[in-house]
Amino acid sequence: MARKKLIAGNWKMNCLTAEGTDLAKTIAAEVKKMGKPECEFLVCPPFTLLGTVKKSLRGTKVALGAQDCHFAEKGAHTGDISPLMLTDLGCKYVILGHSERRADHLESNELINKKAVAAHKAGLKTVICIGETLAEREAGKAIDVCKEQILGSVPDDSTAADTVIAYEPVWAIGTGKVPTTNDVEEVHAAVRKVLAKKLGKSNANKMRILYGGSVKPSNAKELLSLSDVDGALIGGASLKADDFIAIAKNAGC
Ligand code: PEP
Repeated sequence: MARKKLIAGNWKMNCLTAEGTDLAKTIAAEVKKMGKPECEFLVCPPFTLLGTVKKSLRGTKVALGAQDCHFAEKGAHTGDISPLMLTDLGCKYVILGHSERRADHLESNELINKKAVAAHKAGLKTVICIGETLAEREAGKAIDVCKEQILGSVPDDSTAADTVIAYEPVWAIGTGKVPTTNDVEEVHAAVRKVLAKKLGKSNANKMRILYGGSVKPSNAKELLSLSDVDGALIGGASLKADDFIAIAKNAGC
């Protein structure tokens, strides 16, 4: 089953206007030079830059995404952003359940599921993040944790057209540590199995499962050529256009 790889940048809480504009424009220009790339590209700036980056990406092959959303359409939720506000700004994707949100904001699988339902309803594609902590990996529970997170946070009616899964071992995010290729392959295969049970074989075979956690140009080829790895969610290295593009090129885009 051919799945188009997704190369996604999660800018997290980084970049002011000038830096974000420059980053988006440089990435878009480099993607343009690639002609007809084999991959899809996505950047997810902080909320404050969505409007600005949208302008920088207009007419390019790089999609715009957000890093979170609320589950309500509108209303009394001070400081929150609704899925409709994101589509209104030109977003095509939203990242949900990133481990930093699960940790910093105590987001549960149930809450992430509600957000995903609302995002899909508004026409957004979701990148739903899962992944085990170091203690869970060392206790041999990595696959069980990912399974539980998928069953709880992925809506029952999700399809390959509206959902992407990102496997991000928490201990590999921003640390420079990366699991062995065997471990990545094992988890991705297990994730696809769980998706098949939950969403049907056809959806599971078509659904993209990204790897995230210290992806850089030097390890991109190895990680992104593994079976069942359909792209990358990139944090730190997505803030340098050269690295982001080098990852894509090394991944065969
Ligand atoms: C992330 O935050 O999604 C991530 C994978 O970060 P990094 O690439 O910096 O490890």
